[in-house]
Amino acid sequence: MSVIIYTNTCNGQAITSAATFESYNPATGEVLGLVPSSTQEQVQAAVAAAKAVQPAWAALSDEERKGYLMQMAKVLEDNLDYLAKLVTQEQGKPLAGPGSVFEIQGCIGWTQVPASLELPVEIAFEDDTRRDEIHRTPIGVVAAIAPWNWPLLIATWQIMPSLRTGNTVVIKPSEYTSICTLEMVRLLNTVLPAGVLNSVSGSGEVGGWLSSALGVDKIMFTGSSSTGAKIIQASAKNYARVTLELGGNDAAIVLPDVDPAKIAQGLFWGSFINMGQTCACIKRLYVHEAVHDAVVEELNKLAAAMPMGNGLEEGVVLGPVQNRMQFNKIVDLVEDAKQQAANFVCGGAAMQGAGNFFPITLVTQIDNAARLVQEEQFGPVLPIVKFSNLDEAIQMANAVEVGLGASVWSSNPEQAREVANRMQAGTVWINQHGTIHPMVPFGGIKQSGFGVEFGVDGLKAVTQPKIISINKALA
Ligand code: NAD
Repeated sequence: MSVIIYTNTCNGQAITSAATFESYNPATGEVLGLVPSSTQEQVQAAVAAAKAVQPAWAALSDEERKGYLMQMAKVLEDNLDYLAKLVTQEQGKPLAGPGSVFEIQGCIGWTQVPASLELPVEIAFEDDTRRDEIHRTPIGVVAAIAPWNWPLLIATWQIMPSLRTGNTVVIKPSEYTSICTLEMVRLLNTVLPAGVLNSVSGSGEVGGWLSSALGVDKIMFTGSSSTGAKIIQASAKNYARVTLELGGNDAAIVLPDVDPAKIAQGLFWGSFINMGQTCACIKRLYVHEAVHDAVVEELNKLAAAMPMGNGLEEGVVLGPVQNRMQFNKIVDLVEDAKQQAANFVCGGAAMQGAGNFFPITLVTQIDNAARLVQEEQFGPVLPIVKFSNLDEAIQMANAVEVGLGASVWSSNPEQAREVANRMQAGTVWINQHGTIHPMVPFGGIKQSGFGVEFGVDGLKAVTQPKIISINKALA
């Protein structure tokens, strides 16, 4: 069977490149297709196409752009099966459970919601002599740079608010999950004017060209904290405004008053959704000694009951790790924990056979200073630290350089809220974790980034305020 060569979309046209690279199915190791390695000239052409059409796109009424978003939501709905299957084949998450169908449904929701939101003119000040209005205007061309963990959902978070508010977009997908993204962009282009949404696939180098390109006015970046620092540097060249959604090392604190059986599902999927390859996953679990053993036991039961395998197969709810780079990182952290004599309740060794399969791994009796606790593992391995003193648990939870999400689990709402107030993160969930919503702002603090996505605040982040100041005496 011949290998399919996928294409970028620039100014409404399918674009190939002289050089291509392979994208793999992480469940089988097979080549899924070939992806264009965009050249610097192609990146510039995509930015130029987006720039050329942006004034006309911005000149449309809000109602017209909302209409385009609703048409795109329909395209996603009509192609749900196709896109979900591609995501499973390329990213690895199963069709079932909180997997690829769930991801495309999320894309639809995160398209419909910005289509329903308004950014009305605000009055900053008014008296008898003057009136000062805040209008929200588009920024221009948005460079969207996406990671590989939720490739289409995160692309949607970047694309839809930008288009809704009158910007145009050039997106660079992760080199690990280009095919599904290029296909989504191609399909969305069937209902968009040419040039409004363009793609440029390639490695980090292509991301570097895009983020520093003259003509880019705003960068929406989601990825690691180290690449985020490079984005900040790139923006010094073009003065682009920047939203950074970066890495996290979310802590969950479990108080002694919980019912372990009742919270186990929430903790399990809060930790292992997408095999732990989720920005706001529980990556460190602090459990009070009174319930520690019972919580571990409940999680262990769930781990044993969740089928892992090729996500196209029925019944599978856990897939492979997405790529070898990430797989090797997980193995390294697990080996380090073994050196520290941590206890492996389950898992702990890579599975034999094709594909990047690593079992759900629960690690107890681990020192808080261990690398597995202090570094973002971004995989199916959860360190569980027992605590007796709540102040110490909060101190440990906060003592990292990142702050994306956090959670507290308790049957006492007041105490839960008090702990939540003391945890340092962009979002602190109570008795849930990672339950993002398209109406609720989401973003990190510290080295997890800056700026927010979603809801009205997310729309504001892809606009700039323009003040119209009126002297009433002469008007
Ligand atoms: P990554 O930083 O390696 O790559 C992200 C994107 O940046 C890719 O498209 C990559 O090609 C591109 N890139 C690489 N070097 C670049 C450069 N010099 N200039 C411009 N672009 C460049 O991250 P990843 O491994 O794809 O994603 C995993 C990380 O993303 C984790 O740390 C995770 O926590 C984080 N993440 C954060 C959020 C959030 O909302 N905060 C969401 C998902 C993932």
